[in-house]
Amino acid sequence: MRSPRPSDSGGRCAAAEGRARAVIMGQMEEAAEMVREVIIIGGGPAGFTAAVYTARARMSPLVIAASPGGQLNLTSGVGNFPGFPDEVLGPDLMTRMRRQAENYGAEIVQESVKEAALGARPIRVTTDGGTHEAHSVIIATGSNPRKLGIPGEERYAGKGVSYCATCDGFFFRDQTVAVVGGGDTALEDAAFLTRFAVKVHVIHRRDKLRGSAIMQERAKSKEKVAFIWDTVVVEAQGEEDKGLTALKLKNVKSGDVGVLPVQGLFVAIGHVPNSELFRGQIELDPMGYIVADERQRTKIPGVFVAGDVQDHIYRQAVTAAGTGCKAAIEAERYVAELQDRGYPGHDEVEGPA
Ligand SMILES: Cc1cc2nc3c(=O)[nH]c(=O)nc-3n(C[C@H](O)[C@H](O)[C@H](O)COP(=O)(O)OP(=O)(O)OC[C@H]3O[C@@H](n4cnc5c(N)ncnc54)[C@H](O)[C@@H]3O)c2cc1C
Repeated sequence: MRSPRPSDSGGRCAAAEGRARAVIMGQMEEAAEMVREVIIIGGGPAGFTAAVYTARARMSPLVIAASPGGQLNLTSGVGNFPGFPDEVLGPDLMTRMRRQAENYGAEIVQESVKEAALGARPIRVTTDGGTHEAHSVIIATGSNPRKLGIPGEERYAGKGVSYCATCDGFFFRDQTVAVVGGGDTALEDAAFLTRFAVKVHVIHRRDKLRGSAIMQERAKSKEKVAFIWDTVVVEAQGEEDKGLTALKLKNVKSGDVGVLPVQGLFVAIGHVPNSELFRGQIELDPMGYIVADERQRTKIPGVFVAGDVQDHIYRQAVTAAGTGCKAAIEAERYVAELQDRGYPGHDEVEGPA
């Protein structure tokens, strides 16, 4: 349901004034119509799950997504989302989530948010399509994996090049793979990939790792893990039917160039959370992830957060969906309480001069 703004009252009883007031009241009601109970920014697993829950709570959510479907639109088989024993294509899974949200009454628009006044009452969200207002907002803008930016990377993405060992490791049984990076994620990925691959090369541009001592020890203790130091990947090579087959490497100290045959390349050089838009209004951690409590609440009342934009640890569709559910339930409770209290603190609609 959309809710009215608080109204002006009083004034004298002259007939002309009454008519003018009627016109103004009509305009105010129109404006009031536009204040949503909740706006969800982001149309990935977190945003669409929040949409399903808030729509089922009859909050008529508006989902604003620059790219509806989010990151899973970029992948093929998803084998770890519960309920799909035979795998599901990423875009199909997202189409199902979208349809489920729409079936319950969510409105989904493909717009890009340019500005959000999170402290305003109502909260204002400005997109390339206009301005939307709501009593609560769920931020679910996700994150993007950092890319190497080398020839062949895009071409073989999903055909050997991966940004998620947890998601794709399973597909590399008895194969040779490489991990690029020197931090904890790269080391954890390398150790994890030894469950499947016959050999895991860790390629690092320096001669020292950045990862914690414990992760270094764990990775180094694995027989299948081999380190290639002072080296960068300069090209991902492959064949149309086989996918990725090799990496062209360059030693940054000697300048030597070589080719490493692999079937998998796991890029583990970090993610960039899509939180820049909210910087200065909302608390971000040193990596740029939005800080929330265990109930998905930010420090701004009525502003909740879900999915990868607040999660640098798990980064999975199912965890994003889980936090989307939590944020939706919290938003419903927040708005219900706000309604009980008559929307305190909300801007008055301007009357006639
Ligand atoms: C190639 C690949 C394969 C993967 N495979 C798996 C897998 O098999 N299993 C698994 O569990 N996980 C997988 N993941 C991870 C999974 O996709 C993410 O964990 C999940 O999508 C995060 O969901 P999210 O809703 O938080 O964000 P996202 O899916 O990133 O969605 C973010 C949404 O926010 C929107 N948005 C961002 N900024 C704005 C803005 N300014 N205005 C409007 N909209 C905006 C985007 O357009 C998008 O709709 C994979 C990821 C990648 C990249």
